[in-house]
Amino acid sequence: MTESLLIKPFRTSARGVAQVPGSKSITNRALILAALAEGETLLTGALFSRDTKILIQALRTLGFVIVDDEVAGTIRIQGNAGNIPVKEGSLHVGNAGTAARFLTAFLALSHQGKYAMDGDVAMRARPMSGLLNSLASSKTLAYTAEGKPAQAFPFVLQTSGQLKDLTVDASASSQLLSALLMVLPQRAGATVKMSGETVSEPFVVMTERMCAQFGRPLSRDAEGRWFCANPGAYISPQVYAIEPDATAASYFIALPAVTGQGSCVRLQGYQPKGLQGDTAFAEVAKLYGAEIDYQGDSARVRSWHNLRGGDFDFNQFSDTFLTLAALAPLADKPTIIRNIAHTRKQETDRLLAMATELNRLGVKVEPSPQALQADASLSSLTIYPSRDALLKTAQRGPTSIHTYEDHRMAMSFGILGSYDLLGDGTPWIKIEDPGCTGKTFPRFFQALEALRSSFVSIAIDGGAASGKSSTARAVAQHLGLMHVDTGAHYRTLTVGLLDAKATPSNLASVEKALAQFKLDSVLSGFSSRCVLNGKIASEAEIRSPEVNAHVSAFAALPAVRNYILNYQRSQVELARDAGFAGLIMEGRDIGSVVLPNATLRIFLEADAEARRLRRSTEGQADSIAQRDLLDSTRAAAPLICPTGAVRIDNTKLSLAEVVQEVERLIAPALAVS
Ligand code: C5P
Repeated sequence: MTESLLIKPFRTSARGVAQVPGSKSITNRALILAALAEGETLLTGALFSRDTKILIQALRTLGFVIVDDEVAGTIRIQGNAGNIPVKEGSLHVGNAGTAARFLTAFLALSHQGKYAMDGDVAMRARPMSGLLNSLASSKTLAYTAEGKPAQAFPFVLQTSGQLKDLTVDASASSQLLSALLMVLPQRAGATVKMSGETVSEPFVVMTERMCAQFGRPLSRDAEGRWFCANPGAYISPQVYAIEPDATAASYFIALPAVTGQGSCVRLQGYQPKGLQGDTAFAEVAKLYGAEIDYQGDSARVRSWHNLRGGDFDFNQFSDTFLTLAALAPLADKPTIIRNIAHTRKQETDRLLAMATELNRLGVKVEPSPQALQADASLSSLTIYPSRDALLKTAQRGPTSIHTYEDHRMAMSFGILGSYDLLGDGTPWIKIEDPGCTGKTFPRFFQALEALRSSFVSIAIDGGAASGKSSTARAVAQHLGLMHVDTGAHYRTLTVGLLDAKATPSNLASVEKALAQFKLDSVLSGFSSRCVLNGKIASEAEIRSPEVNAHVSAFAALPAVRNYILNYQRSQVELARDAGFAGLIMEGRDIGSVVLPNATLRIFLEADAEARRLRRSTEGQADSIAQRDLLDSTRAAAPLICPTGAVRIDNTKLSLAEVVQEVERLIAPALAVS
């Protein structure tokens, strides 16, 4: 029996930073390009999933040196300047389409190589012939076990290492073309043209843009042939940041359509004009009723006001059609999803699978599953919303949704199941084989769960170099909180006060300068940065020896502290408004004065020698003992361990250990409300 997961509807709003993994398409392309590059490339924000692990493993089998760190999301890969070290071997590509196609074209670069290639049963049925036929014209041949020309997995690939004038039929999958485009710059004079049209054009554009990012832009001649005007090994960008997966993000764009008022989900690093065509889903979602806006490089999705059915062409971003289809039963009128014939040959026949499972919930769809089964050429779906029909089915108990080993089926219905259909939190959807999300999003259901959390405020206090900032920054990233460094506030004010020639001993000079100040905030990653009179002071400015020498004297003045208190408290609203799951604020008086009602108060300490060492390792000339003395003996809001705070002495702890301990303390507060 397959394991199944009962989806618990959201009874309240959804909020927090959606923990979306890196893009699969970008990660797998970057792996191929980095392997073909000269020198080392560090990929950051990379996806670790079944499909990317298959490609990493295959590249290792082929002799590439790869060091990966799943926790940090990084992959370090030594490029081999277009050469493939291992000439004979066997590779298994599972059901990973990109790995299957990209590796096959990649191996064609191997001079006189011989590789036994296989995939899962599902992969054996997926299109490969366009690519294999194309390579055959350059004498890279695929044979079956019987020695006949192969059209699909499994096969033995006998490679020539040459690439000439290739023609590819990529009508079944754009990956067949992308695979060839990525190897094209490795052979001077090589060209590729398509014999017909291809699906999912945006993925081809992604490939082109990435070839250019790795130093080998492609061009097209008047006949539509691709070529590289400046061929050679790729040039490593050294560090390459992978965008969050736009398809995975679509589930979290959809979630606030079905959760309570006041929902606010943040998509860190999600850009409307990124490399991924699936970011177009955000535009469709807006037409459907989504409330999306962008703050810097991130997106914020709030409770949708409507779910407006309509007529949509998903041909160019078809991976996201399931996300919309799963919302369609709740819309105000029918939803038509067009031009998705090619999805019938993906992980499963997605059109048929979606129609069958919506039907199972009592939803009427056209064409019917029977019609879809009989006619493989049908390419669109109309979904007729009916709350009554859904309710009738739900009253009989949770419906078990079949997922057909398709991660996107599991995730889409996970979103629909988050809707509190029965109004009392009773689950009405059960997902079979939830582990199938492992293909691209192993922690999908945990990420969904994390958005159920209530807003938390965490106060961290401690002396100079007690590890507050490093700890708070790491915890903020892991738990989706907004980080506020109040020391930086005092430092920024000090820069301004020194500029205005104010001195701590001349109160009038300080008050006069403060009257001219205006404080704002901007978000930078997970941190809120302080803006003084329209300017963000640089790290070098706020940590200069002069600021180190004066900041505590200014910070001891009640006038300065009063001036900044409301600004600091307003950070809570900023964090809420931006969709963070909470905020983590660090300083000297956070738990005692700024946020005395914080969900959790923590006091960090370490012995003086350990702290002195930390500062000098950071290369900072900072008289921390002197600052500590001033900070803890001043009359206004002195540095103290607030009542009820948890003390952590981290003299002998590593940063990772402190972070882990703080996260353990926060976990219960973040738990479902
Ligand atoms: O944390 P950091 O060392 O950057 O802080 C610089 C100075 O700002 C501290 O020495 C202290 O005088 C002041 N400060 C404060 N209250 C806070 C945070 C910092 O007085 N909440």
